[in-house]
Amino acid sequence: GSRLNAKYVFDNFVRGQSNQIAKAAAEQVAANPGQAYNPLLICGSTGLGKTHLMHAIGNALRENNPNFRVVFLAVERFVHDMVNALRHDRINEFKDFYRTVNTLLIDDIHLFANKERTQEEFFHTFNSLLEDGHQIVMTSDKYPRELDGIDERLKSRFAGGMTVFVEPPELETRAAILLKKAELEGIQLNEDVAFFVAERIRSHVRELEAALKTLKANHIVTGDPITVDFARMALRHMLSSHDKVITIENIQKKVSDFYGIRRDDLISKSRRQTVARPRQIAMALCKELTRHSLPEIGDAFGGRDHTTVLHACRKVTELRNDQHQIEEDFKTLLRSLNQ
Ligand code: ADP
Ligand code: MG
Repeated sequence: GSRLNAKYVFDNFVRGQSNQIAKAAAEQVAANPGQAYNPLLICGSTGLGKTHLMHAIGNALRENNPNFRVVFLAVERFVHDMVNALRHDRINEFKDFYRTVNTLLIDDIHLFANKERTQEEFFHTFNSLLEDGHQIVMTSDKYPRELDGIDERLKSRFAGGMTVFVEPPELETRAAILLKKAELEGIQLNEDVAFFVAERIRSHVRELEAALKTLKANHIVTGDPITVDFARMALRHMLSSHDKVITIENIQKKVSDFYGIRRDDLISKSRRQTVARPRQIAMALCKELTRHSLPEIGDAFGGRDHTTVLHACRKVTELRNDQHQIEEDFKTLLRSLNQ
């Protein structure tokens, strides 16, 4: 495709911890093209909103500057056009076309892999756009350093501006996305159902959308209101593969295994650092991954007060910012619990 999708705008992109930096960077680029971050590279695995954000930049730019030449294209299209141009001896026209755009949005650059001639052409296009102060936005399924089959020069150019990441959305963001999409589609969805689905579908946003479509279709056919029981029935096929809901017990087990301590230690009164830190991390994970309240989480950790849990969550946020190792541990635990 090479058209902007008018449905993908900033307004309906739900912000959460997992994507807020990417969204903020995209908004900056839309407000100051060629000046804020150039190039902007949005990385993350599939179905997490990279293409949505990229279109949102394009739509905002067009709205603010009707004369702006914004070109959106998938890598395949660039390859296809270039091959055609070469075949018909029109490579100069091809070059001129790309060199006069004000903003180039190029989706899925990992697909440049092993296409040497296209990479070379893109390298020149890229440099000339940057030299003229034009904005480039790219998305990729892989981090620049993990891009195999792509020329080193190009990789270092890709990473030469700002690189942001979209991570899998956390529980509350997944629920918020469901509620937002339901509202846009005119589907009556309440918070309980949204959380029921969000607790069970954790892979990516596309799957949440598929669940919503299924709910809608079933609702239209039966005329029944969308309750939790309704959702359980309607989505039984989708949920069977991942209906393992994350519980406080799962989290305690995972965290104690990870740190090589006993689960009892997490519940104990011990204040030793080797136990207290994993306990705080486990509490923060419970807050992030389950719908339990602070008092409930406190109870499950040996009858602690809700303020202790709150303190743990704040402490972990702080540690994640300051200590690389804690951030790595936390992400590893999140990933493995979400699997
Ligand atoms: P990617 O390009 O990363 O594979 P897409 O941008 O195609 O993912 O997103 C897949 C679907 O999920 C799209 O329909 C998009 O609108 C939706 N989506 C992803 N993240 C969000 C979000 N934070 N808020 C709303 N919709 C989202
Ligand atoms: Mg995409």
